[in-house]
Amino acid sequence: MSAAGDLLPQLIDSFGRVHNNLRISVTDRCNIRCFYCMPADNVEFMPKAELLTFEEIARVVRIAASLGVDRVRLTGGEPLVRRELPSLVRMLSEIPGIQDIGLTTNGIFLSELAQPLYEAGLRRMNISLDALDPEIFRKVTRRDGYDKVIEGIQAARVAGFEPIKLNAVSVRGLTEDQIVPFGRLARESNTVVRFIEFMPLDADSQWQRDKVLFAHEIIARLEAEFGALLPTEPDHPNAPAQDYRFADGIGRIGLIASVSRPFCGSCNRFRVTADGKLRNCLFSHEETDIRGLLRGSSSDQEIAQQMLNCVAAKKEGHEINTAKFVQPDRPMYSIGG
Ligand code: SAM
Ligand code: SF4
Repeated sequence: MSAAGDLLPQLIDSFGRVHNNLRISVTDRCNIRCFYCMPADNVEFMPKAELLTFEEIARVVRIAASLGVDRVRLTGGEPLVRRELPSLVRMLSEIPGIQDIGLTTNGIFLSELAQPLYEAGLRRMNISLDALDPEIFRKVTRRDGYDKVIEGIQAARVAGFEPIKLNAVSVRGLTEDQIVPFGRLARESNTVVRFIEFMPLDADSQWQRDKVLFAHEIIARLEAEFGALLPTEPDHPNAPAQDYRFADGIGRIGLIASVSRPFCGSCNRFRVTADGKLRNCLFSHEETDIRGLLRGSSSDQEIAQQMLNCVAAKKEGHEINTAKFVQPDRPMYSIGG
């Protein structure tokens, strides 16, 4: 891409944020129907022919790596419903420059796939579980599956994923009573629980600010039960989660306060959707088609230029807390969380 000795072009936006982290959605399909993400029924999924093939995804990642991307995360929809996902992990792990591959999953298929994924080279995995109470799980997901997720978490431990990281979306009026049990789980097992504020990305546009259970409220509940929480250094400087440890040294939790404490200023992430659109933000209203370029005769340089342009055009922040905010047309499952 550049002659030896030249500086590599960087994925940098007009606010100076350097992007080295690519989130890749491998499908918009899912085996459950979380209300904050998908419609309950009659979902219109992307036709299979529109999904990027593994070879196309690997080419996107090779090009991104030539522009400084070294971290990728597979997501969806539910990434484990995409057949042969471990083969994709293996392909990506062989791309020079890619140092870190992560996966976000609802865990339902992990009892079958945790081991093959580990063997393919995956080491970082976040499992989404919003409730330890099966009834609340069902209210959120509108499907069965709680027992499968618990089995999947266990399979992930056995396969070697340590610590287990759980993502729990927190919703006012629904998950308050899950906070303390999750705190207890974090303290009693090698599990990092990360509470996520509910964001306006649901398919039914039902999000309202008063349904967001804010990070400071979650912290207050945990502190009332377990004593002080002390902020800790993040795993890496651009991590969206603020991590805390309990003052007695037992257990860690994290807060992803996307609404109450936006972290746009240090964002280093951009995305490619399952149907091959580049997006510079979850909340973006614009996207750049690269599937047409991948399937046409475009060169890697031309696709790289589209990536550079997409990142360069990124806005300063998400504007959820302003009157200007307009929810994007694509809900979470279609963007890739
Ligand atoms: N299906 C996988 C899963 O659930 O982990 C991966 C895709 S999912 C869209 C990625 C993450 O986004 C999950 O942790 C999910 O809970 C979170 N998420 C989805 N919709 C959200 C919303 N409206 N607000 C906050 N988090 C959301
Ligand atoms: Fe499926 Fe994940 Fe969306 Fe839930 S959050 S509906 S598991 S894609």
